[in-house]
Amino acid sequence: MLSNPFPFRKGPAAEDLVLIDTHCHLDAEYFPEGPEAVLARARAAGVGGFVVVGVGRSLEPARAAIALAKRFPEEIAATAGVHPHDASMCDEACVAELHALASDPSVVAVGEIGLDYHYDHSPRDVQRGVFARLIGLAREVKKPIVVHTRSAPDDTLSILEAEGAREVGGLIHCFSEDMAFAKRALDIGFDLSFSGIVTFKNARAVQEVAAQAPLERILVETDSPYLSPIPYRGKPCEPAYVVHTARKVAELRGISFETLAVETTRNASVRFRRGFGAPA
Ligand SMILES: [Zn+2]
Ligand SMILES: [Zn+2]
Repeated sequence: MLSNPFPFRKGPAAEDLVLIDTHCHLDAEYFPEGPEAVLARARAAGVGGFVVVGVGRSLEPARAAIALAKRFPEEIAATAGVHPHDASMCDEACVAELHALASDPSVVAVGEIGLDYHYDHSPRDVQRGVFARLIGLAREVKKPIVVHTRSAPDDTLSILEAEGAREVGGLIHCFSEDMAFAKRALDIGFDLSFSGIVTFKNARAVQEVAAQAPLERILVETDSPYLSPIPYRGKPCEPAYVVHTARKVAELRGISFETLAVETTRNASVRFRRGFGAPA
């Protein structure tokens, strides 16, 4: 059990509010000047916690995410996984090393893992096999799962169900599906994390889910450096922009930004079983 489940900063002053960017990529290839300036801008915008996702064409990004989490232990947690794009490179040696990385205390989730039938960078049967194998790995290390799913809703949910993902739960990152998908995902213990997509005018189905999903089951993220929210759409994304996504979700739900910030930060602490930011 958690000794102190909600040690996020809170208080009467607006500057005490913090948001958590529950999914960002801070690899050097995206931010060659290093993470310091990006993190400083995010802090200035009121973002006090970051889940840095470690995936790429090797396990090097996972190692880098873990190193970053150890450098900024108050604010940063890491994930380690194999993106469906890279499923082809995931042999048994990779799984064994990922098991060791995912066991690190700074790693709060296994991911992002899942299926991407939009790009098909790895063959679909390979993606399905690796997804299933890594759900098993998450169960072995007893950590939640960060799911990436694109153009593969039915296979994603069937594999999560068949492989017992409910046992560890997790979240559907960058939620871009509809209400029917959301209901099934929530039923098997997966929260919904909203990215800049929710600010896009044509994202009606995603907005409907953001408005109606249980408040205690939603999170916000940037997926930086991708998917900048309006008003930065089309420009490189960075964690500071999660504020715009949070404002849109609050507006859709008819609640204050402050309430949305407090609740989603609490949700992140529960989901990732740790606090972010300076203790209250
Ligand atoms: Zn993704
Ligand atoms: Zn991602």
